[in-house]
Amino acid sequence: MAAKDVLILQALDIVELSEHRVCISASDSSVIDTVNLKGIDVHIQKFFSNELFNGNNFKLELYVKEEEDEADQIEDKSLTNINIESVKSVTPKPANLKPDFTFSNFVKGNSNTYAFTAAYQVAKQPGISLNNPLFIYGEVGLGKTHLLHAVAHEIHRLYPDKVIRYVSCETLLNEYLEALRNPNRDPQKQLSNFRLVRQVDVLLVDDIQFIANKEAFQEEFYNTYNSLNDSQKQIVLAADRTPQQIKGLQDRLTSRFKGGLLADMHLPDLETRMVIIENLCRRHGVEMGRDCIEFLASSVSRNVRELQGAFTSVMTKSSIQNRLIDRYLIEDALVDFTELDRPALTVDVIQEEVSRYYDIDLDDLLSDSRRSPISHARQVGMYLVRELTNKTLKEIAESFKRKDHVTASHACRKVDEMVKNKDTKSQYILDLKRHLQRNFESGSR
Ligand code: ADP
Ligand code: MG
Repeated sequence: MAAKDVLILQALDIVELSEHRVCISASDSSVIDTVNLKGIDVHIQKFFSNELFNGNNFKLELYVKEEEDEADQIEDKSLTNINIESVKSVTPKPANLKPDFTFSNFVKGNSNTYAFTAAYQVAKQPGISLNNPLFIYGEVGLGKTHLLHAVAHEIHRLYPDKVIRYVSCETLLNEYLEALRNPNRDPQKQLSNFRLVRQVDVLLVDDIQFIANKEAFQEEFYNTYNSLNDSQKQIVLAADRTPQQIKGLQDRLTSRFKGGLLADMHLPDLETRMVIIENLCRRHGVEMGRDCIEFLASSVSRNVRELQGAFTSVMTKSSIQNRLIDRYLIEDALVDFTELDRPALTVDVIQEEVSRYYDIDLDDLLSDSRRSPISHARQVGMYLVRELTNKTLKEIAESFKRKDHVTASHACRKVDEMVKNKDTKSQYILDLKRHLQRNFESGSR
């Protein structure tokens, strides 16, 4: 290892060392970039593997340290050194950003480190073509909006002269329709106001999946996108699925969306959920024992939004009834949560989720196609309907447009064996099953 590389090592801190994991942080993303580029991570991996883990598998995570304290200091300094020039160049921060949706309030874990790091990188250096667009996707309540706001906050802090626009796709669409409303005027002139969006430095559009099937708006957005991209302006998008999974999205937009940095977000694991609760306790001055934190974090595992809701409910119950927070109080408070009005787990839902998960058209799933990925997904679909609803084999066959129940029975048996034998495909099947159980209310016919 060269002397320069040793300097890089000195810039790293070990922040966590556990049975299966080593977390290393640096205060600057360029250090992490160098580690990755020069393959220093491979040396680190080898070192820990030989010295600590006896050659066994473990996970090495590298990330950029939170800069809360430094950020405060920088902000303070900028206040004391303020001069007329800098006042002139400061552009107001978008008013629709939530103040607490910052990087430092975001808890990192396996499920979101990649998205966090990608967002952080973009915020440090907006407009770099490799990162354009940053497309963050994941299910509801996992922190996509939080990360979008955090990017906007951070860019504003680092580049106060940049014009930033954070907007939901729905609002942007309404603005577009509004601009077109006056039928007597030349459409190009009408749109000129709307097209001011092309003059921003950073455009963050949330829930971009709502652009689906809006042909004219897609055309307008495509041109906006190109215009911003051509002038190295940063675009950040969030959606509940990958660009390819957004049905009714024009191919040219799909290819643009997946051409930058694509980052997925998953449900945080138990450990991360516990840290999220710990942070909430700290922020709200709530005392909660570690066993209670663990109990609450393991009881609410659908998404972070719900975890926060459960926390609020515990906090409220404790203060209204003047009770200490213990397991019984949490159980009481959680009653409101277990019965949340989740959508029912119907056959239609299962079929839709299966096609989404395996990225197969619903029409193909229900077709006669015997192509292996399609027929596998179809068999998994029938198995999941069998496992998660009360449908009979005959009904299952019918809902998958098969003529007789033997097909359904064969499919269920085959997938059941895969799961029992821990076939390589089984983990995906179980993952999908868990997703359905978590997000939908089962027991429906
Ligand atoms: P999404 O846009 O993916 O539906 P949000 O960004 O609205 O989700 O997140 C839902 C709530 O959960 C927000 O209050 C957000 O601050 C919080 N949240 C999500 N992920 C995290 C995290 N990793 N750390 C802290 N808070 C989080
Ligand atoms: Mg959101």
